[in-house]
Amino acid sequence: MNNPRRTFLKNSIFLSSGLLIVSKLPNSAPVMSKNKRTTLKFSFKPYTLELKHVFTVAANSRSTTPVMLTEIEYEGIKGYGEASMPPYLGESHETAAKFLSKVNLSQFSDPFQMDDILTYIDSIDTYNTAAKASVDIALHDLTGKLLGKTWYQIWGYDASKTPNTSFTIGIDSPDVVKLKTQEASPYKILKVKLGKGNDKEMIDSVRSITDKPLFVDVNQGWKDREYALDMAHWLKEKGVIFIEQPMPKGMTDDIAWLTARSPLPIIADEAVQRLSDLAKLHDAYSGVNIKLMKCTGMREAHKMVEFARAVGMKVMIGCMTETSCAVSAAAHLSPACDFADLDGSLLIKNDIFDGMKIIGGKVTLNEKPGIGVVPN
Ligand code: MG
Repeated sequence: MNNPRRTFLKNSIFLSSGLLIVSKLPNSAPVMSKNKRTTLKFSFKPYTLELKHVFTVAANSRSTTPVMLTEIEYEGIKGYGEASMPPYLGESHETAAKFLSKVNLSQFSDPFQMDDILTYIDSIDTYNTAAKASVDIALHDLTGKLLGKTWYQIWGYDASKTPNTSFTIGIDSPDVVKLKTQEASPYKILKVKLGKGNDKEMIDSVRSITDKPLFVDVNQGWKDREYALDMAHWLKEKGVIFIEQPMPKGMTDDIAWLTARSPLPIIADEAVQRLSDLAKLHDAYSGVNIKLMKCTGMREAHKMVEFARAVGMKVMIGCMTETSCAVSAAAHLSPACDFADLDGSLLIKNDIFDGMKIIGGKVTLNEKPGIGVVPN
């Protein structure tokens, strides 16, 4: 049987520059015969995630999340991907189906031409970052499998250095918040949503149950920088580690003012979607929450992690409500991040993949090649 990994390694030499050179080694069979051109086969199907609890953030509440599941097949090997589309991203089953029907991967015969393939995907339309990520993740899964390596290995990260994940507590009444805090006992860090006018009540409810470290996510809910600074001092006293997106993403000057004075790091989420946003805004924030669905997938997320580290920012890897497919893809970057918010698959009732696990609160990667997932 033709082992794609062995054939690939036998025919290829990686240089430290990242260039791939196909060599003509003696006795090496060509990867494919010239007159039988294998191409990439792409497919997608819609799916709806059912959330365990109604999820409330500063802007809205919901109980389902639409996702699109993708597959790229090459020489009998399948790579899996996913687009998760919470309402604020502006994508839906309809927009993703429209975008993904335009994807023509049959023009490519080499899955390792990832730069060409993903630049082509990005060029199809301006937005659709989640739909783009679904192709990117499937391609990473496929190429990792063809190489017989996990992506944390390919990137050179140490799987033992993964952070603990936070577990999210949505905005609710004190009794429900206390109950959710009790249910979150397996997790070592909690992420508390604020920004709906009951900020101190939310934190006091959590603190009546636990003294674990807390992240705070305001989802752009505060409109006044003086209030934000007062809250930063109060939250520091309450054992909070950082504040995510305290004010609307357009209030960059006020956020830079807050970052310069805040006793807690100020982390960008909604304000920074892609690498180009990070390049513009890195002076206004202390750190960034990188998510595959915002930035078109693993390729750009990896560049953002490396850029943020190079300019001295704190780095968090986050997710949407997602199956274990997209969450596992993101988890491969977590050894290079200070913080992880990878609870997306724990918040749903109908996960259809087995992948990375949260064990003792810690992101735990497996050694399966690609993104390390198996469909249930
Ligand atoms: Mg956030």
